[in-house]
Amino acid sequence: MTVPVLPLWIGGREVHSGSGRTGDVFDPSTGEVIRRAPFANAAEVGQAVAAARAALPGWRDAPPLRRARILARFRELLEANRDELARLISQEHGKTVPDAAGSLQRGIEVVEFATGAPHLLKGERAEDVARGVDSHSVLQPVGVCAGITPFNFPAMVPMWMFPVAIACGNTFVLKPSEKVPSTALRLARLLQEAGLPEGVLNVVPGDAEAVGAILTHPDVNAVSFVGSTPIARHVYETAARTGKRVQALGGAKNHAVVLPDAELEFTADALIGAGYGSAGERCMAISVVVAVGDVADPLVARLRDKAAALKVGPGSQAGVEMGPLVTAAHRERIRGMVAAGVAQGAKVVLDGRESRIPGAGGGFFLGPTLLDHVTPGMTVYREEIFGPVLVVVRVRTLEEAIELVNQNPYGNGTAIFTGSGKAAQQFEHEIQVGMVGVNVAIPVPMAFFSFGGWKQSLFGDLHVHGMEGVKFYTRTKTVTSRWPAIEEKSRITLAMPTSG
Ligand code: NAD
Repeated sequence: MTVPVLPLWIGGREVHSGSGRTGDVFDPSTGEVIRRAPFANAAEVGQAVAAARAALPGWRDAPPLRRARILARFRELLEANRDELARLISQEHGKTVPDAAGSLQRGIEVVEFATGAPHLLKGERAEDVARGVDSHSVLQPVGVCAGITPFNFPAMVPMWMFPVAIACGNTFVLKPSEKVPSTALRLARLLQEAGLPEGVLNVVPGDAEAVGAILTHPDVNAVSFVGSTPIARHVYETAARTGKRVQALGGAKNHAVVLPDAELEFTADALIGAGYGSAGERCMAISVVVAVGDVADPLVARLRDKAAALKVGPGSQAGVEMGPLVTAAHRERIRGMVAAGVAQGAKVVLDGRESRIPGAGGGFFLGPTLLDHVTPGMTVYREEIFGPVLVVVRVRTLEEAIELVNQNPYGNGTAIFTGSGKAAQQFEHEIQVGMVGVNVAIPVPMAFFSFGGWKQSLFGDLHVHGMEGVKFYTRTKTVTSRWPAIEEKSRITLAMPTSG
C-alpha cells in the first residue's frame, strides 16, 4: 500500500514539495504509518514567505471589521467540522476524541476572541496633551509572522497564534509539527473557504531545515514558537539575533501542591485528570504532586486506585480515557526515565510498563505510572517526562513546597489544593510561575486572558492570545498633532518641549 505524501499550502493552493525528504506520520493507536509529512526546504519556505509578503499590503489595509467577519465565518466552519477535526487530531496524536474536541474548542475560543479585532485595535486618544496639541496611538501590524508549533496540540496551539495575527492585519507562515501535519493543512483550507485571501495563511510542514529558513529569513518580522525548552531557547536566540520579534514558549514541570486540609477525593480526581489526560502530553499536565505533611499516604493510595482503574486504549474508541503516546521513540524515552527513577530510589506504586492493554497491537501504549518518594535530585524530577507518569515528592510544610516549586527551572503552570484561603493567598503571591490554579489542576487561561509561563517555560516578553497576543502582533504608533491658526504667532525654541 502506498502511503500518501501531504502537500504544502502556499498562496492559497496545494504545492507538492520537491525536497525529497519526508517524515512518517503514525496512527499511534496501531503503530501504522498512515501518511508522510513533506519536509519543506529553504526554497519552499522562501516561497511561502514571498506569498505572505505579497498578500500583506491588501490584507493590512483591509478594515479590521472585514478581517473579523472572515474569522467569524471561519469559526462557524470550525464548529460545522468539529467532529471531523477532532477525529483527525486524535488519529495523528493518539489522544481520545473527546479530549481532542476539548482542545479544538479552546482554539475556537481564540478565533472568537480575534473576531473582536475592531475593538481590540482601537488604540488610545488624549486631547490637549499640551495647549492645542492632541495625541493618539494606533496599533499597526508587524508584517509577516511565523508560527512553529509542537505535536501535542495540532489545532489549539496554531490557533493561539494565527487567528490573532491575521486579525491584527499580519500575514502568516505556519510550520506545524511534522508528527501531526494534517490538521493545520485542514484549518488553512477552511480559512480559505471562509474567504481569506490567498497568501494570508501559508502552511509548510517540515523539520529543523524549515525552522532554520524561517528564523533567518529577512522578510519574516515576528516568530511565535511553542515546543521544548532547548528548541525554544535556540529559536529565541536565533530569531532575536536577526532582529525579529520573538515569543518562544518552552517545556514544563508543573507541580500540584496538596495541603492536609484539601478535599481529598476531589483533589485526587483532579490530579488524575491533570496527570494522565492526553497521556500526560500536555504542557500544562501536572507531573509532580507535592504532598504536604500527613496527606501523603491517603493521597497516594487514592491516586494509585484511580490511576489503575483508567481505561487505556485507542483514542477513537468510545469509553477510552487515555490513548497511546505519539511515537514509539517517545515511549522508549519515557520507559527509560521510569527505569532511571527506580534505579535512583523512587518507590514504584504503579508501573505502566507492565500494564496489559487489551487490543494494544502495535500501538505506542504505556499505562499510567505512579512513583512515590521522589527527590529533587532524581532524573524523573529534574527532566520533563511528557508522558503518563506522576511523581510524588513529600515535604513537611507549605513553605517547603513553595521553595521547591520556585527552585524548579520551569515556571509554566502550578496548582494548590487546600481548604484555606490564607494558604492559597500566600501561594498565589509567592509562587514564581506564570499560570496558577487554586483547586484547579490545569489552570489554562481562557482566550481573553493570555497564556504563558515564566523562567525557562518562556523566552520573550509577551504571552500568547488575549491582550498580550494583540500586543505581540502589533506595533504601536503614537501620533502627536496640532493645527495652528494661520494668524497664530510662532517662535523658535530649542528647549525640550513640555506641556507646561
Ligand atoms: P519540539 O521542541 O521537539 O518541537 C517543536 C517544534 O520545533 C516542531 O515544529 C519541530 O519540528 C521543531 N523542532 C524540533 N527540533 C528542532 C530543531 N532541532 N531545530 C529547529 N526546530 C526544531 O517539541 P514537541 O516534542 O513537538 O512538543 C512537546 C514539547 O512542547 C514539550 O516540551 C512541551 O512542554 C512543549 N509545549 C509547551 C507548551 C507551552 O505552552 N509552553 C505548549 C505545548 C507544548
